[in-house]
Amino acid sequence: MSNFRGLCSLAKACLFSTHDPNQMQTKNFLSKALKTGLLTGTLFLPGPVFGQDYPFGSTADTVFDIIREDDPSSFVCLDYAGREIRQMWDKRQDNEFDLNVFLFRAYFSEGPPVDIILNPEFQTENEARAEALKYTRGLGQLPLILRRGIGQFGIHKGNEGFHGGPGKIFMYQDKADLRITQKHLEESIMHESVHASLDAEYSNARDWRNAQANDATFVTRYAAENPDGEDLAESVLFAYGLLYHPGRIPPVDSQVIAASIPARIAVISEILAIPQVVARTEEPPGTCQKD
Ligand SMILES: [Zn+2]
Repeated sequence: MSNFRGLCSLAKACLFSTHDPNQMQTKNFLSKALKTGLLTGTLFLPGPVFGQDYPFGSTADTVFDIIREDDPSSFVCLDYAGREIRQMWDKRQDNEFDLNVFLFRAYFSEGPPVDIILNPEFQTENEARAEALKYTRGLGQLPLILRRGIGQFGIHKGNEGFHGGPGKIFMYQDKADLRITQKHLEESIMHESVHASLDAEYSNARDWRNAQANDATFVTRYAAENPDGEDLAESVLFAYGLLYHPGRIPPVDSQVIAASIPARIAVISEILAIPQVVARTEEPPGTCQKD
């Protein structure tokens, strides 16, 4: 099995910060960007940015492959925990139901496991496992601060838009398959993880509200139309792209993003750089399988 270094048991509750080499990259990018005026809003921007329009429509229809399928993932294995009654919100019926779900637990080399629950419409354990495994690599690609708040990751059949709230994410099989062909399932997982892990603490915090007020515009129309509920989730993906994978967003677009939401990027860079205490990493049981 893969790398078990850094695992510690719940009982031991070990306390150490994650060692993220990307943080250095972030600092380098930021200091360079600040020197060149990239984050100071002094760049000339094309008209639409400060007009009625916004740089992009939404993260869901972005063309940038910000998180790649083969980027490293801390996903270790997926363990079947049997059938259990869990509540699942189902957008297809705009209602919440108690369902006898398939319960899996995804383990990671850092951070707590994530419960993955599948609607019984998946019928068999094998079918449910195959579906769950489409999402686990992407979950393992999230910075720990974005994954640690996901208590439950629910999967339905169907083609609805994904949704997330504090602690919970829901995705739909057909939409996920579409996102996979677009190479964007990872980006969608990141967007929803912000709802699950960050919104409650940061989306109404003073620093974020100040950043919204200080920036010239919103990065997407979806964010502008939903400044309370979607701006943070929309902005994190673009900020993450600039900060952690410079080069994956073309230079012209990078400049537009950096000049559109410099204050938000600064706040997000601080949030993403918060050292994570890996206090709840758990050793997976012997029955846990990689695939
Ligand atoms: Zn959203």
